[in-house]
This record gives sequence, C-alpha cells and structure tokens, in this order.
Amino acid sequence: VRLRLVPAPASTGVVFVRTDLGPRATIPAVAEHVSGTQRRITLGTPPVCVNLVEHVLAALAGLHIDNCYVEVNAPEAPGLDGSAQAFVEAIHAAGVCLQPARRAQWTVESPILVRQQGATLALHPAGRPELRISYFLDHGPFVPPGQQTQTTLITPESFANEIARCRTFLLETEALEFKRQGLGKNTTLSDLLVFGQRGPLHNKLRFANEPARHKILDLVGDLSLVGVDLCGHVVAYRSGHPLNLELARALRQQLGALVERQRVA
Ligand SMILES: [Zn+2]
Repeated sequence: VRLRLVPAPASTGVVFVRTDLGPRATIPAVAEHVSGTQRRITLGTPPVCVNLVEHVLAALAGLHIDNCYVEVNAPEAPGLDGSAQAFVEAIHAAGVCLQPARRAQWTVESPILVRQQGATLALHPAGRPELRISYFLDHGPFVPPGQQTQTTLITPESFANEIARCRTFLLETEALEFKRQGLGKNTTLSDLLVFGQRGPLHNKLRFANEPARHKILDLVGDLSLVGVDLCGHVVAYRSGHPLNLELARALRQQLGALVERQRVA
C-alpha cells in the first residue's frame, strides 16, 4: 500500500483520495462519512472507502495539520507497527506550513457524556483553548494489561513525544482467534503488541502504560472527525472506536445546530 500526504488549500480539511479508483474518489474525513467502527475506522462506502484511517488521522490532528489530501492506492491504510510513529516522522521530514486562514476552535457549553456497555466518554468545557485527554483502561479483574491511566495535554510536541509511538495492543485470546481465522499469516508475535496473563509476549513496552496511551492516540484520531479544533477535557473510561464515534457524531450535530443558529441570527 502506498500512502501520500499532499498539501491542500486552507479550509479543505482532511480528505482521503483512493488514487487507484481515480482522482474523484474522495472521502472527507468527517464523522458522517464513517461506515464502520469495529476495531478500526472505515471511511466511505464500497468501492470508495478506506479502512484503518485512525492512526494517520491521529498523526495529522496531533501535529495540528488541518488541511491535507491523504492519497492511498488500496482500500486500507498501512498498519505499520500499529502506532502513528511512521506518519509523524514522514510529516516532520516533509515540514509543515502556516496558511492564511483561521481554523475554528470549539468546545461545549456544558459537559456531554455518551455511554455504551460499561464504557463512558465525556467532553467537559475548557476554560482555555486546549485539549486534554484522560484515559482509564480497565478490562476487568485478571484481564491484561490491567488498570492503567494516562492524562495528556495534546500539543504537537506531547503528541510526537508521548503518544505517537504507542502501539495497538490485543489479548492473546484475540490473537489466537485471528490466527484461527487465517488472518495475519505473515505476522509474528513480536510484530504486534500481544498481552498474555503476565504481560506482553515476545515484546517490550515502549511506556509502562503504552496501552492507555494508545487509547489516547485513537481518541485524537477519532475526535478529529468532528472537523474542528476541539477544546476541553475528554475523560474516557474503557471507551473504544464505537463510543468515540458516538461522541464525534453528537459533537458534530451540536456544532451544526450552532452554525445554523448563527446563520439565522
Ligand atoms: Zn488504534
């Protein structure tokens, strides 16, 4: 798979382009174009769709890149090592430029909370124009990797240094199930962060709480689908892509209503 990040004019937002289907096979990276949230985010509908977009979205949002065409020549973005590190390195190598337009910054007036099956996800209003994310990881007693927390104020520096390198993780039981289904034939345990009862199998953690940090990485990508610079404090307890998207959709609805009210006024 070949993925190329191409400069876009101000106010374009992030737009995926399936170059193998032609230059008009585009999908804007906003919540209403999400068609799947099971283990990964899928944008668009077949044939014009791209799977596994969350880590490249996280790299763009984490580094405050508002406008970009993401060209990809296959229905799935590269998985790499399960983190956003390679995307961040590519962006740093290419450089970033300031464009002559303002980007909307937005937060909620009062806290908003969504919940699903024992998981909750909230956005609390911010007194200042910044985004802070707290994640509480807890799959239940005796389920690895155990309880972990992480709070990060998201800036391009903190994202690059503390979040981008954190990899997707899965449980040994899930890895065995994937093998049984014939998935990941060319993958060994050390290519993936797989947790057994006593910790990672054939692998070393990049941070003691790498899984909780990866969940923040996913949130940065998923919440970028609101399409604005979100401010406030996100507090997540056990949330994953489906709940993250529920919040992104709710926020986009609030934002749409606000824009409509301002237009009428
Ligand atoms: Zn992820």
